[in-house]
Amino acid sequence: MRRSLVVGNWKMNGTQASAIKLASDILAGLNGADAEIAVCVPYVYLSDVGQLVKGTQLALGAQNVGDQESGAYTGEISATMLKDFDCKFAIVGHSERRAYYGDSNAMVAARFAQALAQGIKPILCVGETLQQREQDQTFQVIDEELDAVFDLAGVDAFSDAVIAYEPVWAIGTGMTASDQQAQEVHQYIRGRFADKNAALAENLQILYGGSVKPGNAKALFAMPDIDGGLIGGASLDADSFLQIYRAA
Ligand code: PEP
Repeated sequence: MRRSLVVGNWKMNGTQASAIKLASDILAGLNGADAEIAVCVPYVYLSDVGQLVKGTQLALGAQNVGDQESGAYTGEISATMLKDFDCKFAIVGHSERRAYYGDSNAMVAARFAQALAQGIKPILCVGETLQQREQDQTFQVIDEELDAVFDLAGVDAFSDAVIAYEPVWAIGTGMTASDQQAQEVHQYIRGRFADKNAALAENLQILYGGSVKPGNAKALFAMPDIDGGLIGGASLDADSFLQIYRAA
């Protein structure tokens, strides 16, 4: 039986004070429910938020991780550094990284491998743009994004990883994939794993991301292959985030 997981992605929002307040408010509203919960906070607030969540149910994550182990890579943060802050998760391949910062499939695979090597669970984001969906390329895009990681890290690496299906057209737009649209892609992704390792496929957490709100979370999370969500905008409000978490 897969455990549900709800992850907040705070992106480049807030201040030190607001990050501490948001994490404190989330902690205050947690009720010991069985689902997993985490927040991926800006690097510079990992220490503050990490101290608050230590020993609690709320896990800590980063929004990216360096594709190299260490060295002359100005501006990058390594998986070893994230480990110092007890990060449990690191998002890799978010569509904003792919679109605005040129993260290629190969680079995302390298980031994935670096996280895993330090015992940090990568949350691999995959998903198509609106144009790709309209041109019936959704599954092809997902295949390419997955294959790059399979080629570098192997399928079995996913026993310590999470996937987030995030249709690019649904991120931050208020447009959500319908429950059926999301389920269709989640089922496809799980099928890709089932072909290679049935037990792994059965246990793999596949999150949905893209304008999840308290009002649509329950129906999305009720789909058989949706195991929770990666939440952007709604994770910046403790009440909304907790409502979504309770829906899981
Ligand atoms: C995201 O950034 O991963 C995301 C899903 O954002 P939003 O919930 O705001 O669409």
